Amino acid sequence: MHGQMMHRPLSIIEVLRFASEIHRTAEIVSVRTEGDVHRYTYTDAFARVGQLGHALKALGISQGDRVATLAWNGYRHFELYYAISGIGGVCHTINPRLSVEQLTYITHHAEDRVLFLDTTFVPLINAVKDKLPSDMIYVVMTDAAHMPDGSDGMLCYEDLIDQHDTIYPWPELPEETAASLCYTSGTTGNPKGAIYSHRSTVLHAYTIAISLGSSLTEGARVLPVVPLFHVNAWGLPYTAPLTGASLIFPGPALDGKSLFDLMDREKVTSAWGVPTVWQGLQGEINARGTNPQGFSSVVIGGSAAPRVMIETFERAGVSVCHAWGMTEMSPVGTQGIMPKSYRDTKSDQELLDLQSLQGRRVFGVELKIVDEAGHCLPHDGEAAGELFVRGNTVISGYFNNQAATDAALDAEGWFGTGDVASITPDGFLIIQDRAKDLIKSGGEWISSIDLENVVIAHPDVASCAVIAIAHPKWDERPLLVVVPKGDARVSKAEVDEMLLKHVAKWQLPDAIEFVDELPLTATGKVSKLTLRQRFADYKLPDM
Ligand code: ADP
Repeated sequence: MHGQMMHRPLSIIEVLRFASEIHRTAEIVSVRTEGDVHRYTYTDAFARVGQLGHALKALGISQGDRVATLAWNGYRHFELYYAISGIGGVCHTINPRLSVEQLTYITHHAEDRVLFLDTTFVPLINAVKDKLPSDMIYVVMTDAAHMPDGSDGMLCYEDLIDQHDTIYPWPELPEETAASLCYTSGTTGNPKGAIYSHRSTVLHAYTIAISLGSSLTEGARVLPVVPLFHVNAWGLPYTAPLTGASLIFPGPALDGKSLFDLMDREKVTSAWGVPTVWQGLQGEINARGTNPQGFSSVVIGGSAAPRVMIETFERAGVSVCHAWGMTEMSPVGTQGIMPKSYRDTKSDQELLDLQSLQGRRVFGVELKIVDEAGHCLPHDGEAAGELFVRGNTVISGYFNNQAATDAALDAEGWFGTGDVASITPDGFLIIQDRAKDLIKSGGEWISSIDLENVVIAHPDVASCAVIAIAHPKWDERPLLVVVPKGDARVSKAEVDEMLLKHVAKWQLPDAIEFVDELPLTATGKVSKLTLRQRFADYKLPDM
């Protein structure tokens, strides 16, 4: 017997329509590339999204067409998210830190028709334009007065939308309709596209609103440092309007000082981003001896949040949610908000231990860990295997890439994350490492994350990474690469002493190398691949 309930398609534009009617005082504040700060409400945004819908139609965009963006976090980028998907198009957000080869590859692979770009990216596009699709239309996201040098032949965003009506007859789209496209950074091989639907996007927004709801309420002021050009800024452009939280978009300046000043001025309550960004902010908080006004929660994900980072925030009265996810999961898979019962009963150290883990699954995402033969392993906190996921917000395949799809899915249709993990009986996920970053030593393995997490707490260490060096006897052994904080160089003996409190002797790194900075991926994570290439011929002391 079927239930007798209406079936209304889940639709992205309905999220903004809702916010424009119900959350009329919530704001979107944007630091613009023009150099000033822009602010308006969801109601204003919805009207401009209507104008943009008409403009896209006038450019010839129809259902299923891909429209690319190359832009920072700001209100025009937000408008594109809604207008492109609202008319049935697909918003393809491009990461500006991709190499020229990758940029060329994905614009052709996606068959982008139009590219909307921030003024800052005009030189970049002019340098590669010959390699991009020849019939691409370029639109610079500014007004006529700020069109930059080199933008001849490109259209102007404000001129484009200015002439149009604010009311758009949004079509009712099947909820499976594609809405946005995001390519993984492609650390190996070509980037692979995750193509989200209206349904998956709205379900993901609901999920975040439930699971991370404490930092997303009406009156909250949320700073997505995580970029709109990567995994839809962890869904915040959809969840914030749904919940009535205001969005504070930081534009291009993401250094500690710029973030602190913006957060203080705009009274940001919750900030979301990867650990490398928070290092800068914590440095600034340390230097000034105070938090930005109103700052009370931080969501850290994208790579493992070091324990010392979590502790520093918590001591300063900023509650930490350590989350895990990936592009292929929209992206959120787990959240690490400590339940009240834990806060009431556990010691600070026990809480920190738990917060250093990767949180617990959100509703709608199932997790399993399997051994090499594909058999499920117990959730006992000890057994470690490859992590597979399943759910309505997980991709069922890569965009136009059957080979990658076949490689990623198991026989039951679960998606293989490429992470090696354990799960505790309470449901806490422990990401040991990416399978490709584990150090395989003498038939056992060493987690680079575990070692980094301890060493980063040393006062003379600004940042660090552990990579595998090929070894004739053990297969691989760990090398610790350190960016020193000042002139002092941490010694091997000091590092060993710290590490021996947490890991076995055979897991200690064989050597330390000092570098000026660590290479980052396009998404701001340490690029272990680049580091491994740089140290490919490295000889450890016993070799
Ligand atoms: P990429 O960085 O390759 O573009 P993603 O941003 O989708 O792709 O990265 C997903 C991966 O990042 C995960 O598979 C996992 O290895 C890592 N990751 C994400 N969050 C965490 C976390 N909290 N702790 C450890 N690793 C994480």
